[in-house]
Amino acid sequence: MDIFEKCHQFTRADELKEAGLYAYFRAVEENEGPVVKMEGRDVIMAGSNNYLGLTAHPKVIQATKDAIDRYGTGCSGSRYLTGTIDLHIKLEEKLAEFLGFESVLLYSTGYQTALGILPTLVQRGEYLVGDKENHASLINGSLMAKSMTANFIRYKHNDIADLERVLSQISDDEPKLVVSDGVFSVTGEIVNLPELVKVAKAHNARILIDDAHAVGTIGKGGRGSASYWNLTEETDMMMGTFSKTLSSLGGFVAGPERVINYLKHNSPALIFSASPTPASCASALASLEILEEQPELVDKLLANSLYMQKGFKELGLNIIESETGIVAVIVGDVDKALLFWRKLYDRGVFVNAFIPPGVPPNMSMMRTSYMATHEKQHLDKILDVFEIVGKELGVIG
Ligand code: PMP
Repeated sequence: MDIFEKCHQFTRADELKEAGLYAYFRAVEENEGPVVKMEGRDVIMAGSNNYLGLTAHPKVIQATKDAIDRYGTGCSGSRYLTGTIDLHIKLEEKLAEFLGFESVLLYSTGYQTALGILPTLVQRGEYLVGDKENHASLINGSLMAKSMTANFIRYKHNDIADLERVLSQISDDEPKLVVSDGVFSVTGEIVNLPELVKVAKAHNARILIDDAHAVGTIGKGGRGSASYWNLTEETDMMMGTFSKTLSSLGGFVAGPERVINYLKHNSPALIFSASPTPASCASALASLEILEEQPELVDKLLANSLYMQKGFKELGLNIIESETGIVAVIVGDVDKALLFWRKLYDRGVFVNAFIPPGVPPNMSMMRTSYMATHEKQHLDKILDVFEIVGKELGVIG
Protein backbone atom coordinates (compact mmCIF):
# COMPACT_ATOMS: atom_id res chain seq x y z
CA MET A 1 0.00 0.00 0.00
CA ASP A 2 1.13 3.58 -0.72
CA ILE A 3 2.41 5.44 2.32
CA PHE A 4 0.20 8.36 1.21
CA GLU A 5 -2.97 6.25 1.32
CA LYS A 6 -3.95 7.47 4.80
CA CYS A 7 -3.71 11.07 3.57
CA HIS A 8 -6.20 10.37 0.79
CA GLN A 9 -8.49 8.60 3.26
CA PHE A 10 -8.45 11.60 5.62
CA THR A 11 -11.47 13.68 4.59
CA ARG A 12 -12.88 14.89 7.92
CA ALA A 13 -11.50 18.41 7.55
CA ASP A 14 -12.87 18.69 3.97
CA GLU A 15 -16.31 17.59 5.15
CA LEU A 16 -16.35 20.19 7.91
CA LYS A 17 -15.21 22.88 5.44
CA GLU A 18 -18.03 21.94 3.10
CA ALA A 19 -20.52 22.17 5.96
CA GLY A 20 -19.13 25.59 6.94
CA LEU A 21 -18.13 24.23 10.36
CA TYR A 22 -14.36 24.20 10.05
CA ALA A 23 -13.11 26.24 12.99
CA TYR A 24 -9.37 25.98 12.36
CA PHE A 25 -6.59 27.78 10.46
CA ARG A 26 -8.76 30.89 10.13
CA ALA A 27 -6.63 33.81 8.98
CA VAL A 28 -6.37 37.02 10.95
CA GLU A 29 -5.78 39.92 8.57
CA GLU A 30 -5.07 42.64 11.14
CA ASN A 31 -4.50 42.32 14.87
CA GLU A 32 -4.91 45.00 17.53
CA GLY A 33 -5.43 42.48 20.34
CA PRO A 34 -9.04 42.46 21.57
CA VAL A 35 -10.34 43.16 18.07
CA VAL A 36 -8.95 41.53 14.92
CA LYS A 37 -9.87 41.64 11.27
CA MET A 38 -11.01 38.35 9.71
CA GLU A 39 -12.59 38.05 6.27
CA GLY A 40 -12.59 41.85 6.06
CA ARG A 41 -14.64 42.51 9.19
CA ASP A 42 -13.96 43.26 12.85
CA VAL A 43 -14.16 40.27 15.17
CA ILE A 44 -13.71 40.29 18.95
CA MET A 45 -10.89 37.92 19.79
CA ALA A 46 -11.77 35.73 22.77
CA GLY A 47 -9.48 32.83 21.97
CA SER A 48 -5.95 34.16 21.97
CA ASN A 49 -3.09 33.43 24.38
CA ASN A 50 -2.08 37.10 24.08
CA TYR A 51 -3.29 37.41 27.68
CA LEU A 52 -1.76 40.79 28.40
CA GLY A 53 -2.46 42.19 24.94
CA LEU A 54 1.20 43.16 24.53
CA THR A 55 1.58 42.08 20.89
CA ALA A 56 0.13 45.48 19.97
CA HIS A 57 1.96 47.53 22.64
CA PRO A 58 3.87 50.47 21.07
CA LYS A 59 6.96 49.83 23.25
CA VAL A 60 7.10 46.17 22.23
CA ILE A 61 6.70 47.05 18.57
CA GLN A 62 9.38 49.76 18.75
CA ALA A 63 11.87 47.50 20.58
CA THR A 64 11.30 44.82 17.96
CA LYS A 65 11.91 47.22 15.08
CA ASP A 66 15.05 48.53 16.79
CA ALA A 67 16.38 44.98 17.17
CA ILE A 68 15.92 44.30 13.47
CA ASP A 69 17.79 47.51 12.65
CA ARG A 70 20.64 46.50 14.92
CA TYR A 71 20.96 42.73 14.44
CA GLY A 72 19.14 42.04 11.18
CA THR A 73 16.34 39.55 10.71
CA GLY A 74 17.87 36.25 11.80
CA CYS A 75 20.77 34.72 13.70
CA SER A 76 21.57 32.16 10.98
CA GLY A 77 22.77 29.47 13.33
CA SER A 78 22.55 27.62 16.60
CA ARG A 79 23.27 29.28 19.93
CA TYR A 80 26.20 26.90 20.21
CA LEU A 81 28.10 28.36 17.30
CA THR A 82 27.43 31.70 15.59
CA GLY A 83 23.79 32.15 16.63
CA THR A 84 24.19 33.86 20.02
CA ILE A 85 23.58 37.60 20.26
CA ASP A 86 23.85 39.69 23.41
CA LEU A 87 20.04 39.98 23.47
CA HIS A 88 19.76 36.23 24.13
CA ILE A 89 21.99 36.57 27.16
CA LYS A 90 20.23 39.70 28.39
CA LEU A 91 16.85 38.00 28.11
CA GLU A 92 18.11 34.89 29.92
CA GLU A 93 19.49 37.01 32.76
CA LYS A 94 16.35 39.11 33.00
CA LEU A 95 14.09 36.05 33.09
CA ALA A 96 16.22 34.36 35.76
CA GLU A 97 16.08 37.46 37.93
CA PHE A 98 12.34 38.03 37.37
CA LEU A 99 11.36 34.43 38.07
CA GLY A 100 13.77 33.88 40.96
CA PHE A 101 15.84 31.03 39.45
CA GLU A 102 19.63 30.76 39.24
CA SER A 103 19.85 30.42 35.51
CA VAL A 104 17.81 30.39 32.29
CA LEU A 105 18.32 28.92 28.81
CA LEU A 106 16.34 29.97 25.73
CA TYR A 107 15.05 27.60 23.07
CA SER A 108 13.38 28.56 19.80
CA THR A 109 9.84 27.55 20.84
CA GLY A 110 8.13 26.29 23.97
CA TYR A 111 7.46 22.97 22.29
CA GLN A 112 11.12 22.61 21.48
CA THR A 113 11.99 23.46 25.08
CA ALA A 114 10.13 20.36 26.30
CA LEU A 115 11.81 18.22 23.64
CA GLY A 116 15.10 19.80 24.66
CA ILE A 117 14.85 19.19 28.38
CA LEU A 118 13.20 15.81 28.87
CA PRO A 119 15.23 13.31 26.80
CA THR A 120 18.42 15.16 27.74
CA LEU A 121 17.82 15.19 31.47
CA VAL A 122 16.03 11.87 31.99
CA GLN A 123 18.24 9.12 30.63
CA ARG A 124 18.49 5.35 30.37
CA GLY A 125 16.78 3.59 33.28
CA GLU A 126 15.84 6.88 35.01
CA TYR A 127 12.22 7.84 35.73
CA LEU A 128 9.97 10.48 34.23
CA VAL A 129 6.61 10.77 35.95
CA GLY A 130 4.05 13.04 34.30
CA ASP A 131 0.45 14.22 34.65
CA LYS A 132 -1.84 12.43 32.14
CA GLU A 133 -3.11 15.75 30.82
CA ASN A 134 0.24 17.43 30.34
CA HIS A 135 0.70 19.49 27.20
CA ALA A 136 1.56 17.59 24.02
CA SER A 137 5.10 18.98 24.05
CA LEU A 138 5.76 17.42 27.47
CA ILE A 139 4.18 14.15 26.45
CA ASN A 140 6.19 13.97 23.26
CA GLY A 141 9.37 14.95 25.11
CA SER A 142 8.61 12.19 27.61
CA LEU A 143 8.04 9.67 24.82
CA MET A 144 11.36 10.66 23.30
CA ALA A 145 13.03 9.97 26.64
CA LYS A 146 11.19 6.65 26.77
CA SER A 147 12.36 5.72 23.28
CA MET A 148 15.88 6.25 24.61
CA THR A 149 15.04 3.72 27.38
CA ALA A 150 14.10 6.04 30.22
CA ASN A 151 11.01 4.92 32.17
CA PHE A 152 7.93 7.09 31.53
CA ILE A 153 4.93 6.68 33.84
CA ARG A 154 1.80 8.83 33.91
CA TYR A 155 -0.38 9.63 36.92
CA LYS A 156 -4.06 10.63 36.94
CA HIS A 157 -4.67 14.27 36.16
CA ASN A 158 -3.71 16.58 39.06
CA ASP A 159 -4.29 13.59 41.37
CA ILE A 160 -1.48 13.68 43.89
CA ALA A 161 -2.62 10.50 45.62
CA ASP A 162 -2.04 8.74 42.29
CA LEU A 163 1.35 10.44 41.94
CA GLU A 164 2.21 9.11 45.40
CA ARG A 165 1.09 5.63 44.32
CA VAL A 166 3.39 5.79 41.27
CA LEU A 167 6.38 7.19 43.17
CA SER A 168 6.07 4.72 46.00
CA GLN A 169 6.59 1.89 43.49
CA ILE A 170 9.99 3.29 42.53
CA SER A 171 12.97 3.00 44.84
CA ASP A 172 13.79 6.35 46.47
CA ASP A 173 17.37 5.92 45.23
CA GLU A 174 16.37 5.93 41.56
CA PRO A 175 16.79 9.30 39.80
CA LYS A 176 13.38 10.74 38.91
CA LEU A 177 11.65 13.84 37.58
CA VAL A 178 7.99 14.79 38.11
CA VAL A 179 6.59 16.91 35.29
CA SER A 180 3.35 18.88 35.22
CA ASP A 181 1.74 21.84 33.53
CA GLY A 182 1.47 24.79 35.93
CA VAL A 183 -1.77 25.97 34.35
CA PHE A 184 -3.54 23.35 32.25
CA SER A 185 -4.17 24.94 28.90
CA VAL A 186 -7.63 23.53 28.14
CA THR A 187 -9.39 24.36 31.39
CA GLY A 188 -7.18 26.89 33.18
CA GLU A 189 -6.85 24.56 36.17
CA ILE A 190 -3.81 25.29 38.37
CA VAL A 191 -1.51 22.46 39.44
CA ASN A 192 -1.82 21.33 43.06
CA LEU A 193 1.79 22.29 43.67
CA PRO A 194 1.81 22.20 47.51
CA GLU A 195 0.83 18.52 47.51
CA LEU A 196 2.95 17.73 44.46
CA VAL A 197 6.05 19.23 46.12
CA LYS A 198 5.40 17.36 49.36
CA VAL A 199 5.06 13.99 47.64
CA ALA A 200 7.93 14.56 45.18
CA LYS A 201 10.31 15.62 47.97
CA ALA A 202 9.32 12.63 50.10
CA HIS A 203 10.46 10.38 47.23
CA ASN A 204 13.61 12.31 46.23
CA ALA A 205 12.10 13.36 42.91
CA ARG A 206 12.97 16.60 41.14
CA ILE A 207 10.18 18.80 39.76
CA LEU A 208 9.67 20.53 36.40
CA ILE A 209 6.64 22.78 35.92
CA ASP A 210 5.56 24.00 32.48
CA ASP A 211 4.32 27.53 33.05
CA ALA A 212 3.47 28.38 29.44
CA HIS A 213 0.04 29.67 30.51
CA ALA A 214 1.12 30.85 33.96
CA VAL A 215 3.91 33.37 33.38
CA GLY A 216 2.27 36.78 33.21
CA THR A 217 -1.11 35.42 34.31
CA ILE A 218 -0.76 34.12 37.88
CA GLY A 219 1.60 34.48 40.84
CA LYS A 220 3.12 37.66 42.21
CA GLY A 221 3.30 40.15 39.36
CA GLY A 222 2.79 37.23 36.95
CA ARG A 223 5.71 35.12 38.18
CA GLY A 224 3.84 31.90 37.53
CA SER A 225 2.49 28.91 39.42
CA ALA A 226 5.41 28.39 41.83
CA SER A 227 5.06 32.01 42.91
CA TYR A 228 1.25 31.63 43.09
CA TRP A 229 1.75 28.90 45.69
CA ASN A 230 4.74 30.61 47.32
CA LEU A 231 6.90 27.62 46.39
CA THR A 232 9.54 29.02 44.07
CA GLU A 233 12.38 27.74 46.29
CA GLU A 234 10.90 24.24 46.32
CA THR A 235 10.33 24.06 42.55
CA ASP A 236 13.51 22.74 40.94
CA MET A 237 12.82 23.82 37.37
CA MET A 238 10.25 25.64 35.33
CA MET A 239 9.81 26.19 31.62
CA GLY A 240 7.76 28.64 29.63
CA THR A 241 7.10 30.21 26.30
CA PHE A 242 7.22 33.64 24.72
CA SER A 243 4.19 32.85 22.55
CA LYS A 244 1.60 33.89 25.11
CA THR A 245 1.96 36.81 27.55
CA LEU A 246 5.42 37.66 26.27
CA SER A 247 3.97 38.37 22.82
CA SER A 248 6.63 36.71 20.72
CA LEU A 249 7.99 33.29 19.77
CA GLY A 250 10.48 31.22 21.76
CA GLY A 251 10.77 29.17 24.92
CA PHE A 252 12.90 28.91 28.03
CA VAL A 253 13.85 26.70 30.93
CA ALA A 254 14.80 28.03 34.36
CA GLY A 255 16.63 26.09 37.06
CA PRO A 256 19.89 25.55 38.97
CA GLU A 257 22.97 26.84 37.14
CA ARG A 258 24.64 23.42 36.85
CA VAL A 259 21.49 21.88 35.33
CA ILE A 260 21.04 24.70 32.83
CA ASN A 261 24.73 24.45 31.97
CA TYR A 262 24.29 20.71 31.34
CA LEU A 263 21.28 21.26 29.06
CA LYS A 264 23.14 24.01 27.24
CA HIS A 265 25.94 21.63 26.29
CA ASN A 266 23.95 18.43 25.76
CA SER A 267 20.50 19.26 24.43
CA PRO A 268 20.15 18.40 20.71
CA ALA A 269 17.04 20.62 20.37
CA LEU A 270 19.29 23.54 21.24
CA ILE A 271 22.53 22.53 19.60
CA PHE A 272 21.05 21.53 16.23
CA SER A 273 18.47 24.27 15.78
CA ALA A 274 18.81 27.99 15.02
CA SER A 275 18.46 30.44 17.90
CA PRO A 276 15.44 32.71 18.41
CA THR A 277 15.48 35.70 16.05
CA PRO A 278 16.54 39.14 17.29
CA ALA A 279 12.96 40.33 16.78
CA SER A 280 11.57 37.47 18.92
CA CYS A 281 13.98 38.22 21.75
CA ALA A 282 13.37 41.95 21.66
CA SER A 283 9.57 41.52 21.80
CA ALA A 284 9.85 39.11 24.72
CA LEU A 285 12.30 41.34 26.59
CA ALA A 286 10.18 44.47 26.11
CA SER A 287 7.08 42.54 27.22
CA LEU A 288 8.88 41.31 30.32
CA GLU A 289 9.91 44.86 31.16
CA ILE A 290 6.32 46.05 30.80
CA LEU A 291 5.10 43.18 32.97
CA GLU A 292 7.62 44.17 35.64
CA GLU A 293 6.64 47.86 35.47
CA GLN A 294 2.89 47.24 35.29
CA PRO A 295 1.94 44.23 37.45
CA GLU A 296 -1.59 45.65 37.46
CA LEU A 297 -1.99 44.12 33.98
CA VAL A 298 -2.12 40.71 35.66
CA ASP A 299 -4.88 41.93 37.98
CA LYS A 300 -6.79 43.37 35.01
CA LEU A 301 -6.61 40.03 33.20
CA LEU A 302 -8.01 38.20 36.23
CA ALA A 303 -10.73 40.83 36.70
CA ASN A 304 -11.79 40.39 33.06
CA SER A 305 -11.81 36.62 33.39
CA LEU A 306 -13.87 36.75 36.61
CA TYR A 307 -16.30 39.20 35.00
CA MET A 308 -16.85 36.74 32.16
CA GLN A 309 -17.23 33.78 34.51
CA LYS A 310 -19.89 35.63 36.47
CA GLY A 311 -21.65 36.64 33.24
CA PHE A 312 -21.60 33.12 31.79
CA LYS A 313 -22.94 31.66 35.02
CA GLU A 314 -25.74 34.22 35.14
CA LEU A 315 -26.69 33.18 31.62
CA GLY A 316 -26.93 29.59 32.84
CA LEU A 317 -23.93 28.33 30.89
CA ASN A 318 -21.84 25.47 32.22
CA ILE A 319 -18.29 26.74 32.73
CA ILE A 320 -15.10 25.53 34.36
CA GLU A 321 -14.17 28.13 36.96
CA SER A 322 -10.62 29.40 36.77
CA GLU A 323 -8.23 31.89 38.36
CA THR A 324 -6.51 32.40 35.01
CA GLY A 325 -7.37 34.06 31.72
CA ILE A 326 -8.87 30.79 30.42
CA VAL A 327 -12.60 30.08 30.72
CA ALA A 328 -13.98 26.88 29.22
CA VAL A 329 -17.68 26.93 28.35
CA ILE A 330 -18.97 23.37 28.02
CA VAL A 331 -21.34 22.86 25.13
CA GLY A 332 -21.63 19.06 24.90
CA ASP A 333 -21.34 17.03 21.73
CA VAL A 334 -19.07 17.73 18.80
CA ASP A 335 -21.71 18.76 16.26
CA LYS A 336 -23.30 21.22 18.64
CA ALA A 337 -19.90 22.64 19.56
CA LEU A 338 -18.91 23.24 15.94
CA LEU A 339 -22.25 24.86 15.20
CA PHE A 340 -21.93 26.95 18.35
CA TRP A 341 -18.50 28.08 17.23
CA ARG A 342 -19.76 29.00 13.74
CA LYS A 343 -22.68 31.01 15.07
CA LEU A 344 -20.41 32.95 17.44
CA TYR A 345 -18.05 33.67 14.56
CA ASP A 346 -20.87 34.84 12.29
CA ARG A 347 -21.90 37.25 15.03
CA GLY A 348 -18.37 38.61 15.37
CA VAL A 349 -16.82 36.66 18.25
CA PHE A 350 -13.87 34.29 17.80
CA VAL A 351 -13.23 31.50 20.32
CA ASN A 352 -11.59 28.08 20.11
CA ALA A 353 -13.72 25.02 19.56
CA PHE A 354 -12.13 22.13 21.48
CA ILE A 355 -13.52 18.73 20.52
CA PRO A 356 -12.47 15.11 21.14
CA PRO A 357 -9.84 13.68 21.19
CA GLY A 358 -8.55 16.96 22.71
CA VAL A 359 -11.32 16.77 25.34
CA PRO A 360 -13.41 13.84 26.67
CA PRO A 361 -16.58 12.84 24.74
CA ASN A 362 -19.54 15.17 25.49
CA MET A 363 -17.16 17.74 26.94
CA SER A 364 -16.73 19.68 23.69
CA MET A 365 -16.23 23.26 24.65
CA MET A 366 -15.77 26.84 23.61
CA ARG A 367 -12.36 27.48 25.09
CA THR A 368 -12.48 31.22 25.67
CA SER A 369 -9.56 33.32 26.85
CA TYR A 370 -9.21 36.95 27.80
CA MET A 371 -6.76 39.81 27.66
CA ALA A 372 -5.90 42.56 30.08
CA THR A 373 -6.76 44.90 27.20
CA HIS A 374 -10.34 43.72 26.68
CA GLU A 375 -12.69 46.57 27.59
CA LYS A 376 -16.09 46.12 29.21
CA GLN A 377 -17.79 46.77 25.86
CA HIS A 378 -15.91 43.82 24.31
CA LEU A 379 -16.77 41.53 27.20
CA ASP A 380 -20.44 42.52 27.19
CA LYS A 381 -20.65 41.91 23.46
CA ILE A 382 -19.19 38.41 23.96
CA LEU A 383 -21.78 37.70 26.65
CA ASP A 384 -24.62 39.00 24.45
CA VAL A 385 -23.57 36.79 21.58
CA PHE A 386 -23.17 33.72 23.84
CA GLU A 387 -26.68 34.37 25.16
CA ILE A 388 -28.21 34.52 21.67
CA VAL A 389 -26.36 31.45 20.38
CA GLY A 390 -26.79 29.51 23.63
CA LYS A 391 -30.58 29.98 23.42
CA GLU A 392 -30.71 29.20 19.70
CA LEU A 393 -28.95 25.90 20.25
CA GLY A 394 -30.73 24.98 23.47
CA VAL A 395 -27.53 25.12 25.51
CA ILE A 396 -29.18 27.74 27.68
CA GLY A 397 -32.60 26.59 28.89
N1 PMP B 1 3.48 24.08 26.94
C1 PMP B 1 2.19 24.40 27.07
C2 PMP B 1 1.50 24.08 28.36
C3 PMP B 1 1.52 25.05 26.03
O1 PMP B 1 0.23 25.36 26.14
C4 PMP B 1 2.24 25.35 24.85
C5 PMP B 1 1.59 26.08 23.68
N2 PMP B 1 0.25 25.89 23.49
C6 PMP B 1 3.57 24.97 24.75
C7 PMP B 1 4.17 24.34 25.82
C8 PMP B 1 4.36 25.21 23.49
O2 PMP B 1 4.74 26.53 23.41
P1 PMP B 1 5.11 27.20 22.01
O3 PMP B 1 3.86 27.77 21.43
O4 PMP B 1 6.11 28.24 22.38
O5 PMP B 1 5.72 26.14 21.15
